[in-house]
Amino acid sequence: MTKTALVYSHDFSACSYGDYHPFKVQRYRLAFDLMEEYGLTRLSNGHIRECGTVSDLELLTFHSPDYLRRLEEFNCSTESRADFRYGLGDLENPVFPGFYDWARLCTAGTVEAARLVTQEGYDIAFNLAGGLHHAHRARASGFSYLNDAVVAINGLVAQGLRVVYLDLDAHHGDGVQEAYYDSDRVLTISLHETGRHFFPGTGFETETGVGAGEGYSVNVPLIEHTDDALFMKAFDEVAYPLIAAYDPDVLVTQLGADTFRTDPLTRLEITTHSYSYIIKKLKALRIPWVALGGGGYDLVNVARAWTIAWGIMNGVELNPRLPPQFVRTVSAMGLTNTMLLDAMYWAEARDRNLALDEVEKSISAIRKRIFPFIIGSHAATSGK
Ligand SMILES: [Zn+2]
Repeated sequence: MTKTALVYSHDFSACSYGDYHPFKVQRYRLAFDLMEEYGLTRLSNGHIRECGTVSDLELLTFHSPDYLRRLEEFNCSTESRADFRYGLGDLENPVFPGFYDWARLCTAGTVEAARLVTQEGYDIAFNLAGGLHHAHRARASGFSYLNDAVVAINGLVAQGLRVVYLDLDAHHGDGVQEAYYDSDRVLTISLHETGRHFFPGTGFETETGVGAGEGYSVNVPLIEHTDDALFMKAFDEVAYPLIAAYDPDVLVTQLGADTFRTDPLTRLEITTHSYSYIIKKLKALRIPWVALGGGGYDLVNVARAWTIAWGIMNGVELNPRLPPQFVRTVSAMGLTNTMLLDAMYWAEARDRNLALDEVEKSISAIRKRIFPFIIGSHAATSGK
């Protein structure tokens, strides 16, 4: 039986980016509440675990000392502070009391999830508050102050482990790609809405890595209206064979829910259908798995997505109708969802054809540029 851990703290929701900021930390509490309603917080093999702490030394494996000092200094400030050299204090990455404590807590959760799968015999550990994938070495970006995935993966690599980082968020996983751009110890794969006119403006097929990392950065940019079938196609024809061929010691995934068609910030059109499909296929790989949350700006989508993921990780079938108590909670927030699972969505024919052309173009470029590096070399030697 699969042994799983949900790394969680009510403190994930104990701060605020501001009333008008799209990133709402209530998302974590709402997701946990929905899991609780479904009985998913009282499983015999699925344990709820604390975050622990992360040391400065661990943070310094990626972040610069001057940036961390600035975060520390602003953390306790009662006046409004900004330092645009570090991306701090603008509308996107506000400075609020305790913001650095909060970012450290989220990062500690991811480090703990990695520890659970490598040292405590857990098959899967899921940190809802991880996946803040835009943080750079010395700059906050895209609501992310610390790059929890990079800090945790650095710890895995230091133990001699090989890692696949798969990013399913609607935005390119730029901070993580940047950290491993010249390394073949971490294969990064990101499926996302194209950066042509969209944050963070990177993640094109041509970004394939440099030096020893050539062929170990994989990007599948998708255009607006990419729907369930096309998202599954991109996963099946690019991500899945690459993960299987690279055969990592640990799989780290960012499971952002902003790909959903009702997300207010993005234009992809996927639903719980392809999201569930992909989570099931990842579980079937049986690779020690560190799962992280990520983006998602419709609170109910976030709660639904991560509840579905946690259900699949634990092999629990969930009632497709949301529990009545949860429906009452979200309707008090002005939201109208009643279903956990969506029907598969097909985009309009014209939009879909354009999106199909684009995904086929990406797949063929990746087959040409990436597959020889990964499938060629790792299939023969199993890469270890
Ligand atoms: Zn995102």
